[in-house]
Amino acid sequence: VSSEARQMIEAHELLRKFYHHLLINTKEGQHALEYLLERGFTKESIDKFQIGYALPTWDFTVKLLQKRGYSLSVLEKAGLIIKREEENSFFDRFRNRIMFPILDPKGVPVAFAGRAIEKNDQPKYLNSPETDIFNKSSILYNWNHARSSIKKQQQIILFEGFADVISADRAGIHNGVATMGTSLTDQHVQLIRRTTDSVVISYDSDKAGTDAAYRAAEMLIKNGCQVKIARMRDGLDPDEYIKKFGPEKFQHDVIGGSLTFMAFKMQYFRMGKNLQNEGEKLQYIEEIIKEIAKLEKAIEREHYMKQLADEFDISLEALSAQQQQVYFKEK
Ligand code: ATP
Ligand code: MN
Ligand code: MN
Ligand code: MN
Repeated sequence: VSSEARQMIEAHELLRKFYHHLLINTKEGQHALEYLLERGFTKESIDKFQIGYALPTWDFTVKLLQKRGYSLSVLEKAGLIIKREEENSFFDRFRNRIMFPILDPKGVPVAFAGRAIEKNDQPKYLNSPETDIFNKSSILYNWNHARSSIKKQQQIILFEGFADVISADRAGIHNGVATMGTSLTDQHVQLIRRTTDSVVISYDSDKAGTDAAYRAAEMLIKNGCQVKIARMRDGLDPDEYIKKFGPEKFQHDVIGGSLTFMAFKMQYFRMGKNLQNEGEKLQYIEEIIKEIAKLEKAIEREHYMKQLADEFDISLEALSAQQQQVYFKEK
């Protein structure tokens, strides 16, 4: 570790402690703490995840770290402060936000994500930029905590966001990590693949989360993973679901009831289609039999062909004949 990287990490460590202290023990942090408790965060998870609060002041970080002997240009490189070009002065990147430290696999803080507290404060999440110590595409949130559970259970649960990981952890699910809103990268997949080959994708059930789940599943399967996809009703995300229906229902119905990629596709391809309409229905059936044809195992192909035949009251023979036609037409 170069001494500059060392300094960046130390600055993060120091700030993490200050932010946490401000949230837990001070009047300034009280509204932030109330917001978190209101959302269902517990004191235990606030401690475990070292959540904190950054003051609204423009130069808290600048002053604190400068006093401790840190060079401003190193702090700028670490993404903690930003330069005002005209004046040759600096201001804090994170102000009046709830602070989630982002740790590398060793548990060392290398970045922050700051969540707005006020509804119309934009953006909702403000993250550290890419730096010499923070490579977004290789870090999964909570990896350092979750790794041993992932190993033991031989399964990982992929979430989108911080709150999802933390709520799941509170619900007794300790093998969860988050991609923090970015799409899953090859580096993430390699990291996962070295520890387990069984993945449950539990992204938000809105359109964006559903599309992202599709892409993540394709990538993971291509890399030899067994993938299941968890689904929730009403566009909820895992954090909201756990709050609304409780941890047991999340564990049993959502994680327990997660779908194979093929079963997920059968739901996915009908989104935005009106299956009462003859044309759209036939289009749907063609799309699905094409997907079924790609399955490796004959028994799986038969299972889904039967399911399709049952649902649409078409003979298995007709479906198979159609599948042959579609399949060979493409070849
Ligand atoms: P919350 O529950 O606090 O409202 P969320 O996790 O449900 O947040 P989503 O909009 O579902 O928020 O986004 C998922 C994740 O994507 C977030 O946890 C965060 O890591 C990341 N993210 C969301 N919005 C932004 C943004 N404007 N900039 C950077 N990252 C973001
Ligand atoms: Mn989302
Ligand atoms: Mn969400
Ligand atoms: Mn949420």
